[in-house]
Amino acid sequence: MQYIKDNLEIVKENIERACNRVGRDTDSVSTVIVTKTASAEQIKEVIKLGYTELGENRQPHLKEVAIAIEAFLAENRNNPDLPKKVNWHMIGHMQRNKVKQIIPIVKIVHSLDTLRLAEEISENCRKMEIKTRALLQINCSEEPQKYGIPVGAAMHLAEQIYSMGNIELLGIMTMAPFTDDEIVIRNTFTRAKEVFDDIKRQRFIGAEFQHLSMGMSNDYQIAVEEGATILRIGSAIFQPQDK
Ligand SMILES: *Cc1c(COP(=O)(O)O)cnc(C)c1O
Repeated sequence: MQYIKDNLEIVKENIERACNRVGRDTDSVSTVIVTKTASAEQIKEVIKLGYTELGENRQPHLKEVAIAIEAFLAENRNNPDLPKKVNWHMIGHMQRNKVKQIIPIVKIVHSLDTLRLAEEISENCRKMEIKTRALLQINCSEEPQKYGIPVGAAMHLAEQIYSMGNIELLGIMTMAPFTDDEIVIRNTFTRAKEVFDDIKRQRFIGAEFQHLSMGMSNDYQIAVEEGATILRIGSAIFQPQDK
């Protein structure tokens, strides 16, 4: 699985170069490794290489993988090369009836996109006496078929979430259209940054609101240039490059 190490190296260099192009500190960008297509062996490999932020987009699968990885780390707890734990990021659409299983095991929900989902999360947080950290998923490209709250409704939803008290809003998440057109992608990310800055400026917003989750295998370098603080990258890491 040398290719995983090589791919991670390439991605890291690309992120550094993109940061340099726009004068950003490389520490201001973190990467969630999206494991949805990866095998258990591939996931273990990225963990061995020091990556601890992992993302999944389907709820039952996230739970299964998280349990398997937890067992693996427990079995290998004396191995100094392995971390004690990893952090899971829920990046896909969430069904309300699975909220209860997911929120205790994830570090950040990236896909909070409706008031009803926020209410369900908040209600479950209350029962479990926990808080949930979340990003507001916003449909910045305004494609009708896409998940995410419309730009025009985002501010109001952010305010409603704040008033619930047990959801910590860390920022926003967006996805660019699936296209090779760099201009379309860049426009989506520029728009996301504007929306992010706009919400951040509001009086009700706290200091923890500082993350912009955008950029995938196809477009993460553009996302870095446009201000992403969290990238979500899968296939660029798990696909052998010698195609
Ligand atoms: C799959 C997925 C990613 C990663 O996509 P790649 O193109 O494999 O990097 C990022 N974000 C979300 C929401 C995803 O579903």
